[in-house]
Amino acid sequence: AKSEGRGTYRFFEATMGAQVRDRRLLEHDLRYAVARGEMRLVYQPQSDAATGAVIGFEVLLRWQHPERGAVSPAIFIPVAEESGVILQLGEWVLREACREAATWKNPLTVAVNVSGVQVHAPNLVPLVQDVLHETGLAPERLEIEVTETALIREPARAQATLRQLKSIGVRIAMDDFGTGYSSLSNLRSYPFDKIKIDASFIRTVDSNEQTAAIVRSVLGLGRGLGMPVLAEGVETEEELRFLVKENCAAVQGFLMGRPSPIATFSHFTHPAPGG
Ligand code: C2E
Ligand code: CA
Ligand code: CA
Ligand code: CA
Repeated sequence: AKSEGRGTYRFFEATMGAQVRDRRLLEHDLRYAVARGEMRLVYQPQSDAATGAVIGFEVLLRWQHPERGAVSPAIFIPVAEESGVILQLGEWVLREACREAATWKNPLTVAVNVSGVQVHAPNLVPLVQDVLHETGLAPERLEIEVTETALIREPARAQATLRQLKSIGVRIAMDDFGTGYSSLSNLRSYPFDKIKIDASFIRTVDSNEQTAAIVRSVLGLGRGLGMPVLAEGVETEEELRFLVKENCAAVQGFLMGRPSPIATFSHFTHPAPGG
């Protein structure tokens, strides 16, 4: 039994080593992924809940690894954050997204996810200014999505950065609302223009009375604060019906459209004259 125990321990040690090695490999590959053309952006429509009109797109990053295939952002974004690679990666996403949005014939919004590491870096505001200047995109058309967890490291600094972004005309959305810490005080401390209710609440909004009550209160909160609310992860007609009935401003999810290459949506971004 004793030798079996040692074997288990050695096995455990070996697996740990393999995990660490694998993470380092991933981190290494991540550093070169943009230069090697393995990264691309997909766009998911955000629509006016009442009319169904497309009002903007959220930009989501995709990594096609030469050996591993598609790697989920849920896997590589944390690695990019811990290694600092997110700074270069995030800059690339911002530039590409703004460059793309500047070509659209309709003045739709482009929503870019920004990591806490970027919010706490000293150069986010000048970077955003440079990119807007360089691409010619109107600041009001850029929306920065941040989660509450992204702000907790140095709240005062995060607050100052978001205020500066807002002062140049950029919009700020609170992402994943309801899943972070002390959401209510955050709504007061940071200059948010929009609340995005997390998909986990939308999933059962049509089938669970408690979830429905929570979502109704968030919608009331948004009304009281003058902040439009967008519901994320809308997958069914029943969920959409509930949200429309409760006067939710905007919706996003597979029901309205999956994240796809921007060409898929050219009838929204480049409508034909008169059509
Ligand atoms: P997120 O910002 O909350 O993005 C929404 C996620 O939900 C996306 O996953 C999207 O594909 C997925 N989604 C949208 N509609 C539906 C739906 O109706 N049902 C379901 N089940 N899922 C839906 P994705 O693209 O895998 O991204 C995961 C997370 O990775 C994002 O969550 C975001 O936190 C992060 N991420 C993605 N791209 C970037 C980026 O460019 N920069 C940073 N910092 N983070 C990113
Ligand atoms: Ca987001
Ligand atoms: Ca979200
Ligand atoms: Ca449902």
